Amino acid sequence: MTTETIEFQAEARQLMQLMIHSIYSNKDVFLRELVSNASDALDKLRLASYQTAFDGSGDLEVDVSDLHVTVRTDPEARTLTVADNGIGMSRDDVVGLIGTIARSGSAEVLAQLRKAKEAGGPSEEASAELIGQFGVGFYSSFMVADRVEMVTRRAGQSAGVHWESAGEGTYTIAEAPDAEQGTTITLHLKPVDVEDGLHDYADDAVVRRLITRYSDFITWPIRMGDEVVNSRKALWSRPQSDVSEEEYTEFYRHVSHDWQDPLETIRLSAEGTFEYQALLFLPSHAPMDLFMRDARRGVQLYVKRVFIMDDCEALVPEYLRFVKGVVDAADLSLNVSREILQQDRQIQLIRKRLVKKVLSTVRTMLDTVPEKYATFWSELGRAVKEGLISDHDNRQAILEICSFPTTHDPEKPTTLRDYVARMPEGQDAVYYMTGDSRAALEGSPHMEAFRAKGFEVLLLTDPVDEVWVETVPEFDGRPLASIAKGDVDLGGDEIDEETKQGFEGLLTWLGEALAEDVKEVRLSHRLTTSAACLVGDPGDLTPTLEKMYRAMGQ
Ligand code: ADP
Ligand code: MG
Repeated sequence: MTTETIEFQAEARQLMQLMIHSIYSNKDVFLRELVSNASDALDKLRLASYQTAFDGSGDLEVDVSDLHVTVRTDPEARTLTVADNGIGMSRDDVVGLIGTIARSGSAEVLAQLRKAKEAGGPSEEASAELIGQFGVGFYSSFMVADRVEMVTRRAGQSAGVHWESAGEGTYTIAEAPDAEQGTTITLHLKPVDVEDGLHDYADDAVVRRLITRYSDFITWPIRMGDEVVNSRKALWSRPQSDVSEEEYTEFYRHVSHDWQDPLETIRLSAEGTFEYQALLFLPSHAPMDLFMRDARRGVQLYVKRVFIMDDCEALVPEYLRFVKGVVDAADLSLNVSREILQQDRQIQLIRKRLVKKVLSTVRTMLDTVPEKYATFWSELGRAVKEGLISDHDNRQAILEICSFPTTHDPEKPTTLRDYVARMPEGQDAVYYMTGDSRAALEGSPHMEAFRAKGFEVLLLTDPVDEVWVETVPEFDGRPLASIAKGDVDLGGDEIDEETKQGFEGLLTWLGEALAEDVKEVRLSHRLTTSAACLVGDPGDLTPTLEKMYRAMGQ
């Protein structure tokens, strides 16, 4: 039998080094990650077995009658083993899933880390945050073990593989003809070092405590010896008052692959003819793939406690793609497909309600815990603003929770509500300007007359701003008006005939001289100190949009 030695992908190696050099102070969490993976593997196997039963192919010959996780300690050998009889991995799976980090955005995050290193090493906090963005479950075992062995066999395949690594750049992989279905991971533990956060993970009592602390909600039995250690209660079906903050947090980490705390927990349920329960979370930071083409989107879908799918797009619109959690619907068929879900009326109703609930939760946050809202908005606002374009039905609710940089206060963005409340007598539009940066907008000649009048102007610098301002006509009965377009009515006096005549010659001359570049040269109140500025027609593209389109080759 041959044993092959293979190098980890560069990103994977970097990440593992980070793990090994223990920048994450709470090392206990490796167990949660391993149990979480085992639980996912059991979910996947059960689902696959349902699907083959439904479509009649029946080619997955596996036993699903006793799916469970086993955890074993061996104090003499100083090992800890986490095993599951779930879906398992093929050789290619192992090389692709364990040997590399396929997640989009990982290269960027690692580049950030490298930069921080060159600048004297990242702080523990910064590193933990970066690691948290990966949700690097499996590698966390190298925080507590100097060697990790894995034996795994993909359900339905006849032979398995044996994988082993000390986390130092390479791993070995060999055939394992007698491997049982599923995955067994054995950690050869580092010496106990309580000071450094390394507890005795070969001690049953320690391990049991960690399981009840971090993995109690896992719905599969987690066995130690003959005993099932976890209570197995689905969090979302327990009365809200029974579930502690910490339990929610651990569950959030399980479903989101995020290592940090959620910003907000949202529960909702419906009874009657169409029954469902949902447990949703808003993250406290933007997921690293938030603006990538293949960003993960959606929450987990369960049917009567049975896991059906991850990232169920049908349940959440794209602009809320950062919302994580679970929806458990009672009346769906177990073999629903993604395509069917998109058309399903019940799913559409749930989605409607989820969206309203998320928006109203943010609204409450804004009204009652402004600092929390500020975090939400600075991390996720750019995504939410996409909803102003795509979600017509909820536009008003979305506008209510937006805030924008403004000339009123350079430090603090403003909501439209606050803007309107500050509007002086004589101002009847909400003024904004779009552009590349705050500095550029503040220095723009368009700003002069508004500054002189004491009219506040929103300074919109996100690319998405260019698009939504074109589709949102007003807020609370006040039109939204760009100060860089058309005739802005500042309520000034008419320009008198005499002045007009005085300028006529100049205007005609300028109009002819610039005929190639401008449509018209106009006399205006718009400026106070500058002599001239460029203005677009109301229907025209803004300079930034023009640049965007040009960059896209249009
Ligand atoms: P994540 O769980 O966030 O995807 P991990 O590093 O924890 O990241 O795991 C990487 C991948 O390895 C998983 O997505 C899964 O495909 C595979 N994997 C890990 N553990 C198991 C297991 N016990 N059984 C089957 N596949 C597993
Ligand atoms: Mg994982």
